[in-house]
Amino acid sequence: MPTEPTSSIVRLACSPNNFPWGKTGKSSLVAQFAPNACEPNFTIKESETYSELWMGSHPTNPASIYPSGPVLSEHIAAHPEALGDASKFPAPFTGKGTTEGEGGHVPFLFKILCCKQALPMQIHPNKKVAEDLHSKDPEQFPDTNHKPEIAVCLSDRFLGFAHFRPLSEITSLFRAIPELESVSSYLQVKLRAFTTGGVQAGASSLKDAWVGVLAKESEKELGKVMSQVAKRVAKEGVGAWSSLDSEGEVWTEKVRSNLTEAVGILEEYNPGDPSSLAALLFMNLVELKKGEGMYVGADGLHAWLQGDIVELMALSDNVLNVGFTSRSEIDEHLPIVQESITFQSVDPSSIALSRTPFVKGLKRNTTVYSVPFEEFSILHTVGEEEMEAFTGPAIGIVTSQEAVTVGAKGEEGVRYERGSVFFVPAHTGFRTDGNGEVWMAFYDGDDKTKDQVGSQ
Ligand SMILES: [Zn+2]
Repeated sequence: MPTEPTSSIVRLACSPNNFPWGKTGKSSLVAQFAPNACEPNFTIKESETYSELWMGSHPTNPASIYPSGPVLSEHIAAHPEALGDASKFPAPFTGKGTTEGEGGHVPFLFKILCCKQALPMQIHPNKKVAEDLHSKDPEQFPDTNHKPEIAVCLSDRFLGFAHFRPLSEITSLFRAIPELESVSSYLQVKLRAFTTGGVQAGASSLKDAWVGVLAKESEKELGKVMSQVAKRVAKEGVGAWSSLDSEGEVWTEKVRSNLTEAVGILEEYNPGDPSSLAALLFMNLVELKKGEGMYVGADGLHAWLQGDIVELMALSDNVLNVGFTSRSEIDEHLPIVQESITFQSVDPSSIALSRTPFVKGLKRNTTVYSVPFEEFSILHTVGEEEMEAFTGPAIGIVTSQEAVTVGAKGEEGVRYERGSVFFVPAHTGFRTDGNGEVWMAFYDGDDKTKDQVGSQ
């Protein structure tokens, strides 16, 4: 067990995940960060996918003290003051490396995520559902916590599906896909109830139609429909959506071009998958440019599609997958999801994260994102900074080619190369030197930006 005083900033060693939706070899940012983010001697395989880097204390994939020290939760248990007032969030699980309520955990899970294809379409259960699921099946649902999350784009752009579209847009898309007219009568009834009811149809017809598309009975038929749609879109390009021209001003050239691109990605990696229709027709296709962020809260159905992001969420690993996954998983989770979400449409502009200069960054080189969740915030520093202490812990990662020297107030700095991850204990002011970039997840009881969510 290390014996540093709590004021010390410690470097962390993290491990990547290798989900098949991740980017391959060094094309993945996770692999590019790995030589410094992971334990020494970590080797990258060019044929392996590198999907995520977890930077936190969650027992599923915990960071440890670099180079070969204890896991972060043990380090915190030995230095409980490192949590500061974030100790009010009890550990929400009984996994290995912790005892429930022991308080050896940061209240958030910070990730780098790089995907080339759709992740499972998912929601994260709210606290009530998480508790119910955990008591019924603790193996599959190890955590009793909710898992609101945010995503901020690290690549030039990122595409992802998030929340249900406004009902008028769903109706327009139905009209723009003539292949749907051929589906069998059982599904036709559900779809027609929705399209003819239009905006007045409301949540219950949205639920019927969306569940109908993902249901087992529709799989074969809609798989074929999706392949036909993809073939036509590949041939016609953006012109495939020309009927949307007359359907209102939301269907700009850019929106139609993103739809075309999404169909191409979906059909390349998930050919003939009806989940693609469940995403394209019903969910907002959100494009983030570098530095732009969005959040998904309770009820937040999402399916990330392509790009690199920093992801930050409450401390939980619970997920209900209902698309882009095995039939058996969809059949198991769809009934739970159907009963636990409210089927409300969300305007994508309302889930954008706003950014403001961070008052605790005294050199004014730090931007903070307004995150509508209590457990965490996120900031981005470019260049020199002198940071006033937070009331809780922080985890940072250097993402630029240029190294960053990081040091606690009154201590000598340490040079961190690209990909290096470090833990800053509560009540520790620090500075960063150099021209590099740092992304940092943190808890700060002084953060007053929580309610300022909206357009940028
Ligand atoms: Zn998620």
